[in-house]
Amino acid sequence: MKIAVFPGDGIGPEVTRQALRVLEALDLPGLTLFEGDVGGIAYRRHGHPLPAETLEMARAADAVLFGAVGDPACDGLERHLRPEQAILGLRAQLGLFANLRPATTFAGLETMSALRPEVAAAIDLLIVRELNGDVYFGDKGTRTLDDGQRQGWDMMAYAEGEVRRIAHIAFRAAQGRKGRLVSVDKANVLETSQLWRDVVNAVAADYPDVTLEHMYVDNAAMQLVREPGRFDVIVTGNLFGDILSDQASMCVGSIGLLASASLGERATDFGTFGLYEPIHGSAPDIAGQGRANPMATILSAAMMLRHSFGREADAARIESAVARALADGVRGGDLGGDAGTAAIGDAVLERL
Ligand code: ATP
Ligand code: MG
Repeated sequence: MKIAVFPGDGIGPEVTRQALRVLEALDLPGLTLFEGDVGGIAYRRHGHPLPAETLEMARAADAVLFGAVGDPACDGLERHLRPEQAILGLRAQLGLFANLRPATTFAGLETMSALRPEVAAAIDLLIVRELNGDVYFGDKGTRTLDDGQRQGWDMMAYAEGEVRRIAHIAFRAAQGRKGRLVSVDKANVLETSQLWRDVVNAVAADYPDVTLEHMYVDNAAMQLVREPGRFDVIVTGNLFGDILSDQASMCVGSIGLLASASLGERATDFGTFGLYEPIHGSAPDIAGQGRANPMATILSAAMMLRHSFGREADAARIESAVARALADGVRGGDLGGDAGTAAIGDAVLERL
């Protein structure tokens, strides 16, 4: 079990430290950790936010645990030297095409949501977003029309293979959850979406134990705030997933609690290579004060055990320790409480 650990900037190192304490407490067989520099710290030490040796370390590992990047001191740098380029570069270089974002309302935190507490209480869903295709990567440009106005375009395109591989990930995720998958598209208008729907239907034949439903993206956006409890797993393309995953996090409402995984195609001995990170950023406003909530990073480590190492029981153990800490009233500053970073780590460890 080789894990490359990239703590990064701001609160990244503080929250990553607590996630490592939790991993180490599990006594995992053959656990080996390598630490590398990414982001602003890497720029200062090596002149680049994603040094070659960091990328090599990621390639040699089974999984990457990533803290956060972002450093106000780097704001004036050219775009390719900015800390944020490190995560974009890692996703591209490692072929991480599947972004998984669970959104679950923890018991006792229903009032943090932008939704009514009783609606928020029912949220326990996972968004599987395709990350390497769609309008973000299609042909794009601007031109001047005959009448003199400028026109811009971005081509939306998906190849069958791109849809197939993300569909498999989503169906497998649904098998490990409540067995329900909603595929989100705009097949009434878009050719890309019709192809998406055809491929998802074909892949469904391999997963008779999963119930598949198709939903148009406008309806999905509405259902996410109206009745989010109806969703288990949602699979969608890059653009729709970008929007819906932020919408879903707001429905849960607590930035310090939400984890994510970005998976590639490479198989490890026990699962799939992936990069795991909290959805929050480097939070420079509270960095170095020991006040950051490490739960999102701890939950990201749980996702790592599930997807890259096939250790579902250990993942569930971590998740339930976090849930019990929250139920017992352990609250970081992001939740209006006063528990510090290390104290939250202690509270999770005690309940492991
Ligand atoms: P970035 O550009 O790196 O994403 P950002 O400023 O857009 O940075 P965050 O870094 O996620 O976004 O911070 C948003 C706010 O949430 C900040 O006020 C920050 O202090 C707070 N915050 C983020 N993560 C945590 C955390 N783990 N614990 C406590 N507060 C947090
Ligand atoms: Mg941000």
